[in-house]
Amino acid sequence: MVSISRPWIETVDVLVVGGGPAGAAAAIHAAHRGFSVLLVDAARFPRDKTCGDGLTPRAMHQLRLLGFGPEIAGGYRSRGLKLHGFGGDVTAPWPNSAFGSEGSAMRRTRLDGLLFDTARATEGVTAWVNSPAVDVSIRAGRAESVTLSTPDGERVVRCSAVLVADGVRSTFGKLLGRVWHRGEVYGIAARAYCSTPFSDEEWIHSHLELRDQAGVAQPGYGWIFPLADGHVNIGCGALSTTARPAKVNTKKLLSHYAGLQRDEWRLGPVTDVAGALLPMGGAVSGVAGPNWMLIGDAAACVNPLNGEGIDYGLETARLAVDLINPRRDLTVVWPRVLRENYGEAFLLARTAARLLTYPRLLPMVGPFGFRGPQAGPLMRATARLMGNLVTDEDRDVVARAWRLATGGLYRFRGADAVLWS
Ligand SMILES: Cc1cc2nc3c(=O)[nH]c(=O)nc-3n(C[C@H](O)[C@H](O)[C@H](O)COP(=O)(O)OP(=O)(O)OC[C@H]3O[C@@H](n4cnc5c(N)ncnc54)[C@H](O)[C@@H]3O)c2cc1C
Repeated sequence: MVSISRPWIETVDVLVVGGGPAGAAAAIHAAHRGFSVLLVDAARFPRDKTCGDGLTPRAMHQLRLLGFGPEIAGGYRSRGLKLHGFGGDVTAPWPNSAFGSEGSAMRRTRLDGLLFDTARATEGVTAWVNSPAVDVSIRAGRAESVTLSTPDGERVVRCSAVLVADGVRSTFGKLLGRVWHRGEVYGIAARAYCSTPFSDEEWIHSHLELRDQAGVAQPGYGWIFPLADGHVNIGCGALSTTARPAKVNTKKLLSHYAGLQRDEWRLGPVTDVAGALLPMGGAVSGVAGPNWMLIGDAAACVNPLNGEGIDYGLETARLAVDLINPRRDLTVVWPRVLRENYGEAFLLARTAARLLTYPRLLPMVGPFGFRGPQAGPLMRATARLMGNLVTDEDRDVVARAWRLATGGLYRFRGADAVLWS
């Protein structure tokens, strides 16, 4: 007799593929709405994620909404940015906005472990690790069932809605039709850890004048984010397009940058070097179908001017869960919600980031931002805009100018730009 092993079938309201910040937050929010949730990740936690580990006020705001407090980085809080370059230094505190004025930084092994464990402990959530989503059955655009490769064999999950939070490569998203538009600006970056006696420094540091070993200015920036655990996260990123690819070996540049900072920060050896690509600013299409949505990095929700994406992962999780309704077709609604929330800001940031890929631009305008009486106000405004920390409630000059610029550009280019379309 031939025995046929049949995959075991599970039924849930919401399947969340990927348990990073976006997926874990989505699972928690969905359970709070009363849905039964299966959260699956290909990895086992704690797992590392190549990242600067920086938490902006936007991210802190979302973490508070999820109920987190002092457990984030053991209470360590950053007050803002210190920007360096072109012969000057500017201090830019986080602005007082609806997101609050505190940032932080926490190793992703710890942050993601905390989020995943919290999701797993939430009533209504079942969480599986080591269980990548490997296939999907689609009918009329609907994801009817998803196949998981679990340590106990294949499992088929039937679900009303699927939230895809499988990160930058989004292998599962690709099965559903996700396309990354490589012609748009993207980031290449590397990070490492170094010991330092100054790991509880209250400011995060960015060096906007990033020169390679030959002294050539690079289209990107270096960062040092104190972690309050005896270490800093140190890294560098460069902006690139297919027309003007950044000819940078980010790992070598990082080692050079760490060498330049070593004395001031009394840095120990550079450890755990890792590099990654960052699709940015909504430069993907195929982000939704009738009952599925891509969130976080899978939907390229990363700020093109500073590479932050934890906050957008947490925010898109919340926005997506709010839309789940068996009677609502999400195909058009989800890209529209993304464009309404981030379209203007991401399009302007992407345009500015594209300009920065012209090698001569930064050395030309950089000194204006760091020297002279205009430097302080200008760079504080720049830091606020880079962090997308202007809210609809803000009525000051910078906020008005920002709204004018983003709104104008969006009317001019929005229709034909790749923005989750
Ligand atoms: C060098 C670098 C520095 C950065 N610095 C910062 C920073 O300082 N601050 C900031 O806010 N952002 C930063 N970012 C961006 C940030 O890391 C991402 O935006 C963030 O991790 C997005 O979270 P996510 O949950 O969407 O994806 P991820 O964190 O990548 O999580 C995706 C999860 O999906 C799982 N997965 C993948 N495929 C499958 C599958 N088929 N089935 C099941 N599970 C799957 C993975 O195992 C993973 O756990 C940086 C990025 C880089 C590359």
